[in-house]
Amino acid sequence: MMTIEKVLEIVENEKIEFIRIEFLDYAGITRGRTIRPAQLKSAMEQGVNFSVAIMSFDVFDEYISNPTYGPNDGDFFAVPDPSTFSILPYRKNTARMLCDLVDINGDPWHGCPRNALKRLLNEVESLIGGKMFMAFEQEAYLLKEQDGQLVTADKSHCFSIEGADIQEDFIQDFVYSLESMGVETEQISSEYGPGQLEINLKYTNALKAADDQVTFMHLFKQIARDKGMIGTLMPKPFHHLAGSGLHVHISLYDEYGENLFEDTSDQYGLDMSEKAYHFIGGLLKHGSSLIAIGAPSINSYKRMQPGSWAPAHICYGSGNRSVLVRIPEKRRTRRFEFRGADGTCNPYLLAACLVAAGLRGIQNQIDPGEPIDFDVSTASEFQLKERGINWVPRSLNEAIDCLAEDSVLAQTIGRSIWEEFIKIKRTEWDKYSRYVSDWELNTFASRF
Ligand code: GLU
Ligand code: MG
Ligand code: MG
Repeated sequence: MMTIEKVLEIVENEKIEFIRIEFLDYAGITRGRTIRPAQLKSAMEQGVNFSVAIMSFDVFDEYISNPTYGPNDGDFFAVPDPSTFSILPYRKNTARMLCDLVDINGDPWHGCPRNALKRLLNEVESLIGGKMFMAFEQEAYLLKEQDGQLVTADKSHCFSIEGADIQEDFIQDFVYSLESMGVETEQISSEYGPGQLEINLKYTNALKAADDQVTFMHLFKQIARDKGMIGTLMPKPFHHLAGSGLHVHISLYDEYGENLFEDTSDQYGLDMSEKAYHFIGGLLKHGSSLIAIGAPSINSYKRMQPGSWAPAHICYGSGNRSVLVRIPEKRRTRRFEFRGADGTCNPYLLAACLVAAGLRGIQNQIDPGEPIDFDVSTASEFQLKERGINWVPRSLNEAIDCLAEDSVLAQTIGRSIWEEFIKIKRTEWDKYSRYVSDWELNTFASRF
């Protein structure tokens, strides 16, 4: 167990000079400050102050229109969680800590995403007597600059060992760095796209899993930069190449380590329990708004196309990767994965919303219907209608419309987070929809 005293001791013994105090805003961007050791004790006891207004920035670092928080609305305080203390293996004398946000009285600030997740996890424990576990699977590209253009860093092929070999220097530094920061990795694959990798993190309790995803996001970019490349979690960097998803595996265990999502008497033969199906029912019911939270960028919607292995429809199934919720084959531990997120999300908000939707599914015994047993990405509109399967939202704006109608998520993540998130994302959409791209100019100017 890490305590304030222990952190201070390590900082002194290891001669740490710089401590990064970090948290994520609603746009999924890490904000923070770097403090010196002399400030550390008071930072851990009192928190480090930030204007609440910074939570109303969009992804362009600009104030959104009609923000809830302005420069005159005071501060919140970022209180580092000692359990997240780790020394950055690739920087000199530097450590980092992830924070919870508290208000002026030291109470959890209503706008804090990490705290929203903690609250939901406690709710699951007290209402159904289980602990949520998650494993994040992030895909990401390594790019380089060539003649002023961003191109893939190599020409590797899907699951080729050659692909992993070409980037061995990056991969090993990345994996050792993660591990030295307490993040366990399981598998490394050269993914479908050239220069695209997938590095799977080991499942762990949902709060640590979200913290680990944050560590992944930072390290992937930082280590790539150290090696003269650009590491990106952007969902669809190139229209003709595979997108990068963030799949979240979800499981539920009781205090004796019993898997509450497993039941061999399952009528569909997938060895999943009633609780698992109801949880999935909740995920599907709130599917469109979960996508708004998990895939919250303009670019996210270019990834979710039929036939791309990213979900384009809201349904679940087993042997099929085009679904929103996939149950892995029976040979593997019973769990399921939500495939509708990407690396532009705030992992705390995503995890909190997944838990909220699943919990409502269990409480209201929401039936997800039969798992689909065909390739939904090739289904006709008629087949989709017949089976009652909807498309995922086709744009950020459509997704935000769905989230704006979702009062359950509004209540669970907190009204103020929900409201501000919607405003931030509407601003992003608005800026994008006014922009005229080269593609439009080239297509339309000569024809009309
Ligand atoms: N790249 C796909 C996505 O965007 C997933 C491919 C896979 O199943 O590994 O979600
Ligand atoms: Mg993959
Ligand atoms: Mg996966």
